[in-house]
Amino acid sequence: MEITEIFKTMEYSPAPESPDLALEWLKEHKSKFGLFINGKWCKAKSGKVFSTDNPANGKKLASISEAGKSDVDAAVRAAKLAFPKWKSLSGHERARYLYALARQLQKHSRLFAVLETMDNGKTIRETRDIDIPLVIRHFYHHSGWAQLLESEFPEHIAIGPVGQIIPWNFPLLMLSWKVAPALAAGNTVVLKPAEYTPLTALLFAEICSQVGLPPGVFNLVTGPGQTGSLMVNHPDLKKIAFTGSTDVGRLIREATADTDKKLTLELGGKSPFIIFEDADLDSAIEGLVDAIWFNQGQVCCAGSRLLVQESVAEKVIDRLKKRMAKLRVGDPLDKSMDMGAIIAPIQKERIQNLVDQGKKEGAAIWQWEGKLPQNAEKKGDGCYFPPTLFTNVSPASIIAQTEIFGPVLVSMTFRTTDEAVMLANNSAYGLAASVWSENINQALHVAPKLKSGVVWINCTNQFDASVGFGGYRESGYGREGGREGMFEYLKPKESGISKNQIRKSVAKVKASATTALSLDRTAKLYIGGKQARPDSGYSLNVVNADGSLAGEIGDGNRKDIRNAVEAAHKSSGWQSSTPHLRAQILYFLAENLETRAVEFKKRITQLTGVTEKQAALEVKTSVSRIFTYAALADKHEGMIHQPPMRGLALALNEPIGVLGLVCPDEAPLLSMLSMLLPAIAMGNSVVLVPSRPFALVVTDFYQVLETSDVPSGVVNIVTGDSAKLGTVLAKHDDVAGLWVAGTKTECTEACKLSTGNMKIIWTNNGAQLDWFDNQQSEGREWMRRASQVKNVWIPYGE
Ligand code: NAD
Repeated sequence: MEITEIFKTMEYSPAPESPDLALEWLKEHKSKFGLFINGKWCKAKSGKVFSTDNPANGKKLASISEAGKSDVDAAVRAAKLAFPKWKSLSGHERARYLYALARQLQKHSRLFAVLETMDNGKTIRETRDIDIPLVIRHFYHHSGWAQLLESEFPEHIAIGPVGQIIPWNFPLLMLSWKVAPALAAGNTVVLKPAEYTPLTALLFAEICSQVGLPPGVFNLVTGPGQTGSLMVNHPDLKKIAFTGSTDVGRLIREATADTDKKLTLELGGKSPFIIFEDADLDSAIEGLVDAIWFNQGQVCCAGSRLLVQESVAEKVIDRLKKRMAKLRVGDPLDKSMDMGAIIAPIQKERIQNLVDQGKKEGAAIWQWEGKLPQNAEKKGDGCYFPPTLFTNVSPASIIAQTEIFGPVLVSMTFRTTDEAVMLANNSAYGLAASVWSENINQALHVAPKLKSGVVWINCTNQFDASVGFGGYRESGYGREGGREGMFEYLKPKESGISKNQIRKSVAKVKASATTALSLDRTAKLYIGGKQARPDSGYSLNVVNADGSLAGEIGDGNRKDIRNAVEAAHKSSGWQSSTPHLRAQILYFLAENLETRAVEFKKRITQLTGVTEKQAALEVKTSVSRIFTYAALADKHEGMIHQPPMRGLALALNEPIGVLGLVCPDEAPLLSMLSMLLPAIAMGNSVVLVPSRPFALVVTDFYQVLETSDVPSGVVNIVTGDSAKLGTVLAKHDDVAGLWVAGTKTECTEACKLSTGNMKIIWTNNGAQLDWFDNQQSEGREWMRRASQVKNVWIPYGE
């Protein structure tokens, strides 16, 4: 070939990475693998096996054991037995193990990279340069957290044996995101890799043996979804950390609803990639290639929805097509490939069906026209899918809303910044977003408005062990990586303070009847800053501790909750108000409560039957609690991470949105404030359901709210049957988070019913908290509960 011709075609020659190292490793194991339980390899008692194949050529790579019930039981038993010793090692001792794991991973990085490519079908360029280096970084970084655990998290301890279930798209990377923080925090692990991609997890188990990790600290069970389900339902696993589809996440949430298992869910996404007219368009197009064609688009945070400003849309689409035409799709072991194989025929079929759907919906399709590799072993094309672009897409169409999880980009246009934000947030998901503009002010103005756990400014698909990753809304909750990720594997130490005997049993309070509304004696609801009559027209009697009638409260219903949620949404200015302003308003609230201390003391004594001294203590503690949250309002700040790149990641603590709060009976003023204050100090708006028998304490509080300049709609209060109203809040799709301090049944119901929009949920799981104990009932733990971390990545330099 002439040199001029080479310049013209820019054709690459094949540059294959040798599979020999991985094939040798498979041969050493006769291509058969057992389970890794209690530091030993064993056959699955189920006797079942399944195979794992190479998606690039359909060839079987190995036989894998399928763990059944007795295998999962054995793995959990081993993790449970190993836990006490592992958690009581010093941070330094655990740090040494994590460090040793990082070193071994580093030593075997090539084997890991090749094996991952063969098992998953992603290109060697990605496994070699992205997945495996990030895995190593995770273990080094978390070795650091282990070392610093006692000094950095003095109020927290490990949770126990934890179950971890991961997907196939980043097999070893997802393992590292889960195993490294779990072990660093002192937990032991049972991990299940995805059935399509177990090989690097098996190699990792070998490495655990090599570094002498104590038996039972890391256990590996392989198998399909049923194996995962056995883990989810195992009573001895104290936490489930799941990464996978939103549908399975929902099932897991329902299955664990009546347990006290901690849960983190890293789910799907449909992330926007926003190009403003002042963006560096060439960079943005390179960014798009990374956003949607990296790992064949099988990436939870893939920038799969292109939003481009109308004035540059034509230019962008034109250049994008030219760039797409140059993409190289083929043998994943070839170092010059941009895209490899799709994980399995069933996934390819799913992608194809959604593409057909897009065509039916009238969107215009443009596909890469290169030649897909033929699969010698099977008929047809093998598991490859061409890079695909849809234009003329309607925002409500299925392809604009559904996670395709393949190399398919859908594009839409916008005119104004507001429209861009609206389109970006027009999704049930909220995992990531990418914003392209040379005007940093504009980009930083948009970033906080986007409902997503990560925002990349002028970059995309950046990850690091020091920077938390995780979603909003149906993309799940919890974070992996960084300080915020460590909290997911820790729980607060028990305070050991005994409970105050603060009230007589609520059960002894006389039953009260529903009556037709008697106008002047009924405390109303509090919605949008105004007192409102309940929709039902009914009121409920409230009786004093001595059995006399104390008054009436409105019997709120579904419609009242709906109005309250609407009012809460209208107060969105509260979210963007300055923390200083929120602090000032809270201080004012404390001042106004104190002015009415005698009145509240009397009400608490009469209603609950506690002594005057106890009631005075409740009011005094309430004032102090307001001060705490006024103080924290401008101190629960984020962090600046410095990942290994020329750039920063700003970890911003953001409010969740509209929170539903269902308050308990005990210490009715203090418990209500303990839930309300962190929520509003963080900038959330709330719909609060007070204790049914003691609601009059809370309705008395309206006046304090009114005189303290709390903007209307920030606090909405609906009285009535709290269990019933809690259920309505749980099902309401415009409520982003729910806290329930109720009976065990109420808590379970709330967890089960709130999976529709995957609300972030906290419950007391039926236990009675000591609201007077500052360690349990106030402070940063509650501020963390009231917030979610958004990481905004900002590269710098030319
Ligand atoms: P999946 O939900 O089908 O499977 C994920 C894992 O769960 C697998 O190990 C599977 O065996 C197991 N599983 C399946 N059914 C189960 C059940 N009933 N109980 C317990 N475990 C069960 O997802 P997938 O197809 O492997 O992965 C793709 C999905 O993962 C996409 O939606 C993607 O967006 C998501 N994902 C999210 C993140 C994130 O960090 N948010 C990262 C990677 C992938």
